Amino acid sequence: MDTAVEVRAGILKIGCALLEKGLVAGTWGNISARLPAIDRIAVTPSGRNYRDLEDSDIVLTDLEGNVIAGQLKPSSELKMHLEIYKARSDVMAIIHTHSIFASSCAVANTSIPPIIEDLVQLIGGSVDVAKYALPGTNELAKNVVAALGDKGAALLCNHGVVCCGGNLCEAFLGCELVERAAQMYIYASQLGGARELSREDVKVMHDFYLEHYRHRQKG
Ligand code: 13P
Ligand code: ZN
Repeated sequence: MDTAVEVRAGILKIGCALLEKGLVAGTWGNISARLPAIDRIAVTPSGRNYRDLEDSDIVLTDLEGNVIAGQLKPSSELKMHLEIYKARSDVMAIIHTHSIFASSCAVANTSIPPIIEDLVQLIGGSVDVAKYALPGTNELAKNVVAALGDKGAALLCNHGVVCCGGNLCEAFLGCELVERAAQMYIYASQLGGARELSREDVKVMHDFYLEHYRHRQKG
């Protein structure tokens, strides 16, 4: 299990990767991870550029959102992160982005259907749109939990994307795969439309990921 030091370093690395891959611009988006050994959440501070962050800028909170360590204000989407952790004991890390193709689906209020192997393996099916609510609100947090269900990603209507996973790397991979699938979906719609995978095949592929493939990736 990762220590607080490792998790803070991991969050800094992922923040820079979000900028490098164009999944966020400027200070938007946010990242968190569970620290089960000390029952805390590590989360990015609000409104800070990922490239300027230092280890000590990562805020530690409890599951109710009380700040336990750190001088900066925690992400304005902390409520959304906490609601997901409370609803999903399997989730150890959460990343929120504003990536372009997935956010295009989100502004069109259109789910990304289960159309491509890597997406359905990792996410477990379609990426559904959470009902619109203002950023940072309890309402948005509840709507996101409902849209996520037991899957690994959801879209936030007129806003962006949230991906969760068993660790920071898995949540980051989810952000990349959701963005790629959204791009494929939009391109395929110009070719007459994407063919959807069946519910049965989605289950086979997601089970394969959970039971085998994710362990191979850990290497
Ligand atoms: P923070 O900088 O407060 O994390 O907010 C960014 C964002 O994307 C809000 O939805
Ligand atoms: Zn946002």
